Amino acid sequence: MCTVTFSPRQRGYVLAMNRDEKLSRAVGLPPARKTIQGRAVLAPAEPGGGTWITVNDTGTTFALINWYAIARQVKANPVSRGNVVRRVSSLATGASATMALEEMPLHQVNPFRLIGVFPGTKEVLEWRWDLQQLTHKINPWCLQQWISSGFDEAQAQLVRAAAFQAATLQKAPGTLAWLRRLHRSHRPAAGPFSTCMHRADAATVSYTEVRASRGQVQMNYFPGAPCQCANGQIKISEVKLRLQAPPRPDIPHPIQTFHPDLLGADVRRLISIPPEPQSNKTRRPKSQLRQEPPAAGVLECAQSSAALAQPPSKTP
Ligand SMILES: [Zn+2]
Repeated sequence: MCTVTFSPRQRGYVLAMNRDEKLSRAVGLPPARKTIQGRAVLAPAEPGGGTWITVNDTGTTFALINWYAIARQVKANPVSRGNVVRRVSSLATGASATMALEEMPLHQVNPFRLIGVFPGTKEVLEWRWDLQQLTHKINPWCLQQWISSGFDEAQAQLVRAAAFQAATLQKAPGTLAWLRRLHRSHRPAAGPFSTCMHRADAATVSYTEVRASRGQVQMNYFPGAPCQCANGQIKISEVKLRLQAPPRPDIPHPIQTFHPDLLGADVRRLISIPPEPQSNKTRRPKSQLRQEPPAAGVLECAQSSAALAQPPSKTP
């Protein structure tokens, strides 16, 4: 039960995650800085030590959502999915994350979808574990959202995807303010299907956002439903890291494709990314302003979006 939205920016990206949980579940701990396998990592935590979202000092974010569309469940002694994110949290390439996942005892882990954002290569990877096989694919570097719900996943995906699509038609989609508005949205009504989720026994229990820019990454956290913050002025706990250079992605990883039946209602939309305002210190006279090239991700998205729109080719 969660919603994750990724938005590329001219210099980096922003990502927001609503964590939806049973109200009876133990309250999570706000983000803290940890050192994991030699890398600095920011992450909130469950009291048991697992987590649902991390960002490390290479600017790499991992976020995990449950995969309720898969009915299979571990029969005995399941390992918490919170351990999966913690295990990969220090890694900086898709290949190393794939290897780490393959080395885990995944047959004891219930179905999940893991999202990895790699700013060094402008890749958004998604791994899926259905208790039978681990697959992964590369998504385009563009505005996109992932949705899970233990109430009625298919319906939640439809309703939230509609809210997401409508939001992309608003002014300045993809900005931080837009992202916060979307994640506290009750469209079409506050309930099990709204992005900011409310049920009698469960709700959005926290909001986490990652802001990665050229030299720094920051994790903000609100321990409650984001709608409780008037005008998005969230009183958030905030932790920051200075970025280190990510290692080169020198290990190729095999690309697997998903069966179309497994594709959820994840939604992506190509947007033009507005240039970010320059501070007065660095602003140049108009005549000297260089034409900013479009973010590389925009072109990649245009190609990928076109590819996504194509029906699967038929085997002769
Ligand atoms: Zn709400």
